[in-house]
Order: sequence, then structure tokens, then C-alpha cells
Amino acid sequence: MQKHNPEQAMVKIRREFGEHGGVTPSIARSSTFTVVDPGTMPEIFEGLRGPEKGGCFLYSRHFNPTVDVLNRYLSAMEGSEAAVNTASGMSAISCALLQLCVHGDHIVSSDTVYGGTHALLSELLPQMNIHTSFVDPSDTSGFEAAITPKTKVIFTEVMGNPTLKIADIPKLAKLAHDKGIKLVVDNTFTPLIFSPTVLGADVVVYSMTKFINGASDMIAGAICADKDFIYELMDLHTGRVMLFGPTMDPRAAFDLIQRMPHLPLRMQEHSRRALAIAQSLEELGAPVLYPGLKSHPHHELFTSMMNKEFGYGGLLTLDCKTKEKAEKLMSILQNKEEFGLIAVSLGYFDTLMSCSGSSTSSEIPPEDQEKMGLSPGLLRVSIGYTGSLDQRIAQVERAVKKVGLA
Ligand SMILES: *Cc1c(COP(=O)(O)O)cnc(C)c1O
Repeated sequence: MQKHNPEQAMVKIRREFGEHGGVTPSIARSSTFTVVDPGTMPEIFEGLRGPEKGGCFLYSRHFNPTVDVLNRYLSAMEGSEAAVNTASGMSAISCALLQLCVHGDHIVSSDTVYGGTHALLSELLPQMNIHTSFVDPSDTSGFEAAITPKTKVIFTEVMGNPTLKIADIPKLAKLAHDKGIKLVVDNTFTPLIFSPTVLGADVVVYSMTKFINGASDMIAGAICADKDFIYELMDLHTGRVMLFGPTMDPRAAFDLIQRMPHLPLRMQEHSRRALAIAQSLEELGAPVLYPGLKSHPHHELFTSMMNKEFGYGGLLTLDCKTKEKAEKLMSILQNKEEFGLIAVSLGYFDTLMSCSGSSTSSEIPPEDQEKMGLSPGLLRVSIGYTGSLDQRIAQVERAVKKVGLA
């Protein structure tokens, strides 16, 4: 397998300096751009002279110089030829899927996906006669069995939300390519840790709202793929990003550009602390699931695909069995121990906790939740890096003992 070092790749991208010698890039807030020679305008519209060809900028829903800097960070990190940033993770997912699928097409998806993605696949896309079969992400043969002549896409998260099941990306890529279809992967939970493009995925989507941004202060997304697919998305006549228009604002792009350089440090620290907390919970006998523990059913698969320097990620789950017990534990962890905050989302510098079945996965009907192994008392915890680790371990240990989980 080709060796890809995402941290080094990000360091090597062309640095963009600001006007007046600024060490940060300038924010190009112009919605439109002047052309010097009026004769070039028609050629820009024909796609002959746009910024993607090293030429002029046209209009900021198409390409914007500041957003382009971030596009370069993303494609360097991912090891993809190109990338396009979007206003949210959901718009990245929906535009990518709608570029690949039209009326009558079929998708095979992991059943363990973000609630919004599940709703898109199971409720919205069927209104456009695009149907999805859901399968267990950890069983590649299930994907194969569900493929029909109408299937255009295999969709999965590398680490499934919220049950932390791992999909075998190289095997799914081989399956997809043998069948002449595309593998689309959501790597929101595990940026840097996995490089799905290098593992064989055709399209990789991110919600940058989570770890990549890391400050829980914006909604943002990205699509990474080969140049042809990114230009298709930006096509003036049929590009889904161009015409549905989930454009990233250059101010949001600037904030993200300022945070990409310390993403490697942050991911390492999320992972280091999550592993230490998971180990201490496991020693106490608490029902903890974390891919860095040997007890995780897909620990070896995770290890075989990961970029080792970034660890096993910041997410762990504690199965409290009932919603009531999960709520009691969260309440102690937030209001007594000050271990973290009861909030949906993840990848923040403080720890965030939510009971997935009744929050971010509540779009998934109870019977499907049961099928995907989502217990009503499953507490998803995104481990932050504020405070001392010893203090955090002591807090969580006291709390799980208090509710009788250890
Ligand atoms: C949050 C999330 C999304 C949706 O992203 P937004 O930025 O909220 O639109 C998609 N996939 C996963 C795995 C997520 O966690």
C-alpha cells in the first residue's frame, strides 16, 4: 500500500501569505471578480479559463481564492487530487450522492450512519426514486449481496456512528471497483487517522463541524475526490455544488485554514486521552467500547488501516442499557464532576456527551436502532483535552461507580 503521511502533505502545500506580508492568508470576500479583457468572460463561462485552469476567478459560488486555500489543505490531508468545501457536512454528502445517482438508481449503505444521513437515504432520496439498502458495515459480503444492476454507490462511514463499528475500506473499494460503481466514505469521526482515498475510496466526505474545526463554532463540510469529479460538482450546467449552492463563506474558510495546522496535534491528544480513559474504565469493569482496546471487535481491522501516529480517535461509548441510567450518568458527569458537557456533536476541545438513540440517531426508527446494535442507553462520549488527564480519569471513575456501572 502506498504510504501517505497526511501531516507532511499538509505542511508541503503552497503557503498563502496575506497582503502586506501577513503570516496568515487574506480573506477574499469579493462575491465577484473583474476581468481585464471583456473577451475572456465567455471563455470563463465555457470552463476554458477558470481558476481550475490557473486562470481568472469569476464568482464566489464557483471558486473563491480563500476557499481554494482550504480546498488545497483538504486534498493534501486526504491524498486526493482535489477537494471542494461546502457549507455543511450534510450538503457535502447530499451533493456527492446526487451527483452520482439519478432517478431510478440504487445505493448500498452501511446501516450505522449519522442520523441525518440515514434520513436522507431512507426518507428524502426515495422521493426522487433513489432507493437504499442498508447493511452491517462490518460485513463486506452483506454489501456485495445487496448490489443490484441499478446500484451506483456504496456508502459507509469508516467508523460508524455511534456504535463504532469499522468498515473494511480496501475490501469495499475492491468490491465497488469490480462492480464498476463508486465507494463514497464519510470520514468525519477519524480525520488523519484514516486516509480513505489512499485505502481506495473514490469520494471522501467530511463534516468539518467536528474534529477538523475543533472549536464547535461553525458548520462546514468538504468533498475530496479526483479532479474530474470535483469539476463535475462545480460544472456551471449540472454541478450539484454549483447549482444547489451550499457555498462555503470565505470567512468560514479562513477560520478553518487557521485550525488545520494544529489538527494533527489535536487528534493525537484526543486519541491519547480517550485511550487512557477507556483503559481505566475497562479495568474497572465498566461497559466501555473503544477501538484502541483489544476488546473492540474490530481493533485489528482498525489497526491495519490506520495512520499509526494519530491513535484510535476521540470517541468512546458506554452502554448504560437504559436511557434513564445514561441520563443519570451524564447528569453526574456534567453537573457534579464537571467532566464534560451534555451536548450533541463531537470533536470539541471539551468533552461532549449524548445519548445517541434519543438524539443524533433519533431519526432512525427504534427497530432499526436495535438491528444496528444501538442500545437505548448507549452514551457516546467525545473526549476533549482540557484539564489534566488524571483529574478526568478520577471524575469519570467516581461517576460510573456512583451509577453502578462498575
Ligand atoms: C455531524 C455529522 C454529519 C453532518 O454534518 P453537518 O456539518 O452537521 O452538516 C455527517 N456525518 C457525520 C458522521 C457526522 O458526525
